[in-house]
Amino acid sequence: MLELTDTQREIVGTVRDFVEKTVIPVADDMEHKDEYPEAIVEQMKEMGLFGLNIPEEYGGIGESLTTYALCVVELARGWMSLSGVLNTHFMANYLIGKFGTEEQRQKHLPKMATGEIRCALAMSEPEAGSDVQAIRTKAVKDGDDYVVNGQKMWLTNGLRSGIVMTLVKTDTETDPPYKGMSLLIIEKTPGEPKPSPGLDVGKNIEKMGYKGVETTEMTFDDYRCPQTQLLGTEEGKGFGQVLDGMELGRVNVAARAVGVSTRAFEEAIKYSQERKAFGKPICQHQAIQMHLADMATKLEAARLLMLQASTKKDAGERSDLEAGMAKLFASEACHDITLAALRVHGGYGYSKEFTVERLYRDAPFLLIGEGTSEIQKQVIARRLLEKYKI
Ligand SMILES: Cc1cc2nc3c(=O)[nH]c(=O)nc-3n(C[C@H](O)[C@H](O)[C@H](O)COP(=O)(O)OP(=O)(O)OC[C@H]3O[C@@H](n4cnc5c(N)ncnc54)[C@H](O)[C@@H]3O)c2cc1C
Repeated sequence: MLELTDTQREIVGTVRDFVEKTVIPVADDMEHKDEYPEAIVEQMKEMGLFGLNIPEEYGGIGESLTTYALCVVELARGWMSLSGVLNTHFMANYLIGKFGTEEQRQKHLPKMATGEIRCALAMSEPEAGSDVQAIRTKAVKDGDDYVVNGQKMWLTNGLRSGIVMTLVKTDTETDPPYKGMSLLIIEKTPGEPKPSPGLDVGKNIEKMGYKGVETTEMTFDDYRCPQTQLLGTEEGKGFGQVLDGMELGRVNVAARAVGVSTRAFEEAIKYSQERKAFGKPICQHQAIQMHLADMATKLEAARLLMLQASTKKDAGERSDLEAGMAKLFASEACHDITLAALRVHGGYGYSKEFTVERLYRDAPFLLIGEGTSEIQKQVIARRLLEKYKI
């Protein structure tokens, strides 16, 4: 079992208290209204959460992926959308920190650490999600700039972000296509639907769950981006950089799943002791006990897989297999656990008066984001065949 350091215990405890006092009392209502949690995000800034993993020399706290994952569990236990506000920001600061030039780090990380600038990640397009190499957005050199054309889709934090890490093709002729892909650090004015000539954020996409946090499109029409905004110094590295970042993204999704599942389990085990049917609390019926046992076992397994992936990555080891397994198992478990929680609540589980209704609608996104379960299985199988090659 993982022994937390005193600092980790303190940080995670602070986030837990914050979620209990500030998030849980308002989350259901804000989610139903699809309201952006402005005041809560301000408090997250003050707590230093946007700089949790940014090195201290750039104004952050310099904590590990494991600490981050444990904080995400707590936030998602309160409201999953809060972890959505953090995740693309976290991936962006990881990418700039690992692959950016010193100048790029100095320019962006301090403002990202305070949350003054928050970030989005634009990889998916209307016609390319799982098949990342099929993206069409291209950036062509012209003088000191790239001229960018194309359309991105599903940008979490698309509107309020000040930086959008955008995957483009800087060379459309390469075979395989991934060798012609690069990441651009696109800067824009947060909250502006049309921040610069040729850049259009598009409207918020309405979703079944995961509300509050915005999800937008983004269109580039001869948008000019200075070449100094290429991540790193070399074109053609974008695909590898994004895949590296996705290992973290997958741990994040696993952590959200653990958070949502924890809450669903807590709600179900409490309700099962309060609700009576056939003269006794429903928890005394064996069928309900089966649900509770399955939920708790899956939750515990998901948590352990998440920690295995995060601690391996923190140790600097390759962890794509572990991150894939954690993401796959935890998101599928979350889907099962939230459905079981709804079943335990009977008809009330279907009512907006009860939190499990929201948890049940939040869970399916986890089966899709950072790679669908089907794609995750391919990643896992490919790695297993490499590892066990005869
Ligand atoms: C709420 C929300 C927020 C998001 N946020 C972001 C974001 O911030 N940034 C970003 O870049 N993207 C984001 N995404 C996009 C997300 O990453 C994609 O939706 C996801 O990768 C799946 O791509 P797709 O929707 O195009 O589905 P498709 O790729 O079209 O897949 C459709 C179905 O086919 C299956 N499939 C596809 N290929 C294969 C295959 N080879 N073998 C077997 N099955 C296959 C898939 O598993 C799926 O079941 C977000 C999506 C949502 C819903």
